[in-house]
This record gives sequence, structure tokens and C-alpha cells, in this order.
Amino acid sequence: MRCGTCDMLKLMLCEKLREAGVVGAGGAGFPTYVKAQAQVEFMIANGAECEPLIHKDAEIMKHYPVEILAGMSAMMEATQAQSGKFGVKTKNAESIEALRHANRNERIEFVPLGDFYPSGDEYELVYTATGRLIPPTGIPLNVGCVVSNVETLYNVHLAGQGKPVTEKFLSVCGAVAQAKSFWAPVGTSFRDLLAQAGGATVADFGIFVSGIMMGSTSFELDEVVTKTTGGIIVLPRDHYLFTRKTRSQQEMNRIGKSACDQCSYCTEFCPRYLLGYEVMPHKVMRSLGFTLTGGEIWNQWSELCCSCGICTLYACPEDLYPKEACDMGKKDRRGAGLKFVQQKPVEVHPMKEYRRVPLAQLRKRLQVEEYEREAPFEKVDLRPASVRIMLKQHAGQAAAAVVKEGQKVKKGQVVGRVAEGKLGAPVHASIDGKVKAITAEAVEIVA
Ligand code: SF4
Ligand code: SF4
Repeated sequence: MRCGTCDMLKLMLCEKLREAGVVGAGGAGFPTYVKAQAQVEFMIANGAECEPLIHKDAEIMKHYPVEILAGMSAMMEATQAQSGKFGVKTKNAESIEALRHANRNERIEFVPLGDFYPSGDEYELVYTATGRLIPPTGIPLNVGCVVSNVETLYNVHLAGQGKPVTEKFLSVCGAVAQAKSFWAPVGTSFRDLLAQAGGATVADFGIFVSGIMMGSTSFELDEVVTKTTGGIIVLPRDHYLFTRKTRSQQEMNRIGKSACDQCSYCTEFCPRYLLGYEVMPHKVMRSLGFTLTGGEIWNQWSELCCSCGICTLYACPEDLYPKEACDMGKKDRRGAGLKFVQQKPVEVHPMKEYRRVPLAQLRKRLQVEEYEREAPFEKVDLRPASVRIMLKQHAGQAAAAVVKEGQKVKKGQVVGRVAEGKLGAPVHASIDGKVKAITAEAVEIVA
């Protein structure tokens, strides 16, 4: 039975997490206070990190194990989780060693993971850690689990001490002089990040933001770090991946419509399909030929896709775009208010274990093998002349600025808030300075 003091502590932590603006640092940006409000059996730490070339989670686990484990224990207390499962890849031996050495909570158990993509997908991790399958379109909570990225847990620990999220841990890697991982104030420009890594080693380059597989592309050095930026990967502008990723949707559809031979490799390698969910990208590709009517029938096979990119960037022998077809299918169905109900029970495919995608194989297929190297943590003194704090860095509603142009602000001060009762998170100044400009998207602060 739960005592009144425990309930009070839970409420206090939720309030601190909300006020500190803690959101999922692994990419989704879901407000963590909502997860802390839940009651579950398992608290799962996600240290799987499987985006090629990015190594920031391995570094944060190696250098901040005490803080991460304290954050995990705090989440276990709040959610009443009896068991903590810490997913971490066996290849990160130094991180595991640091975590084991720092762990004082006997209810936390380490779950060794192989070096496959995408071991960090929530559906995949929940299954590996607990043997439970999340119901189709469901969330970990449906099977008694809460999952948080390791950096989020670090932020949970800081929030418990009243410290808001003002810095982001990230890797700068790829075609740079010195790949490394470091803390950067939220709102720092990519230009400043790149300078910390000694600059690009090629004159004409582009950037993958937060990952090649699930991140976005950018050719804009004025873009800034948010609470969900996992890192930047610099690659030559004429790299095969930019050619693939920068096609227009019309072009992707036109090529897909004429060249897809329905070999179904995209489906056979799909991690969600292999877990037993009715995701079939090869069928979604058929929708490209049904532009006036019938598309939605094929698009239903996209609904449980997690956009991992395996089908487009690894499986398809024709270099087509099944993932993008699934993205479009999901959007169209949402717009039409259609919901897919899985017909068959979810049953793990007998070939699942044999069809996993090793990272080394994936790097080869992506033609980035030559850029694979460590990105060791370095304490850098990054003092940007200005930062741009984006008002939407999280799932839910965008924050609205609560400061005025010309106003002086201190690091850690709230500069944007979400309306009371709405899902979202406040955003904070990441440096001391003066508010230079406020737009609908951001608050700019000069040091
Ligand atoms: S793998 Fe490529 S060619 Fe084969 S069915 Fe899928 S999209 Fe079509
Ligand atoms: S992106 Fe492709 S491989 Fe990944 S879940 Fe979606 S359909 Fe499956």
C-alpha cells in the first residue's frame, strides 16, 4: 500500500519535472512529468543508442552514471515500479562498468543488448526487457512500463534539485576534424557546435540532425540545438545519403510507382513486422498506383510503422522510399480520421532474431563506414554570443514567450510557458543576457 508521504513525494517530483521543462531527450520530447504520474511495474532506462555514428549516450553513461541512476530511482519511486531495467549495449563495456560500479539500487537490473538497429525503439526495448508486447497503437504504459532515455534520467536528477534543462548533451561527428561529445547550451547554433569540433573537413557539406536514420537534414548553420537534439553528423554535400534524402515527395512517389517490383524485402526486414505487428510497407507501396481511390486500403499497412527507416535505407534493393510512403500513408489516414485495428493477435515472427540489422552492416549500406569513430566526452567552455530558444521543443503545445524584448534574463529563468492544463513544457534561458528578439517560434537572447 502507498503511504501519504510517498504520494506527496510523487506530486513534488512531477511538479519539479514540469517546472524544469524535462522532456524526452532521446528524440520524441514527451514531457516527463506525465510519465512520472503513471503507476507501473517496470521502469526502463533506454541506453540502447543505435543511430549510426552518434555515441553521446554511451559517453553520458560513462561519465554521469551516478546522476542517471539517481534519476532512474526517482522515477521508480514516483511510478511505484518494483523493477528497474536498464537497457545498454554490451559493446559499451566502459559504460556498463561505470553504471554497475555506481549502482546502489538492487531493484535495477542491466539488460544487455546486441549491436542492432533499432534496439532502442520502445516496442522493441519493452519486449527485450520484459517479454511483453505493447498492444497495436498502444504505449509502454499499456503493459505496465515507462521508458526514459538515459539523458532524460540525468535531467530528472537535476530537476529534483530544482535545476531546469538549459544544456544538451550531444555528439558532433562525421566529416569533422575532431569528433566529440559535449554539453551545449540549448539554443546554440550548429555553427558554434561545429567550431568546437574543429570545423568540417570538407568545404561543401550538409548535416544530419540527430541521426541519419530518424533525424532530419539541414544545410543551415544558423539552426539551433533543442532539448531533443542528439547531435549533428556532417557529411559531404554530394554524399549518396543527401541525394537520397533530399528528393521531393512527388519524385519519390513517381519512382516508387514505376520501379517497385513488390519483392517485399522492405516488409521482411521491418522490425515492427518482425515483432508481429501488421506493418507491410510493400503493400503501402501499392497505394502509389491508386491515387484517385483505393489508396487508403493499402495505407492501413503503414499505421503501426515507427519510421525507423530500415525499409528505405537498408532493405530495398531498388533504393525506393517505402518509409516515406508509410509516413504519407499515416498522415493521409489521420487527416481522413481513419483508424486501423489489427486483425491478428500480435505474435513474434519466427525469423525475428535472424533478420536483425547489425550496425556494422547498416553503416556499410549507408556508405558511412569511414566516418565511424569514437566521439569522446570533453568538457568544453562553450559560450555562444547568442542563443535562440525555440518555443516548441517538445510534444504537445508550443510555449508562449513570457519575457519582453530588451529584458535582462538569467540562465535558468523561464522565457516561455505552456498554458495551464495543456500538455507541454516551459523553456528556459540557457545563458545570462538580454532578450534581443521574440518571434512566434523563438526567443533570441544575446549574451
Ligand atoms: S523492397 Fe523496394 S522494391 Fe521491394 S517491395 Fe519494398 S519498396 Fe518495392
Ligand atoms: S520505417 Fe519501414 S522498416 Fe521501419 S517500421 Fe516503418 S515500415 Fe517498418
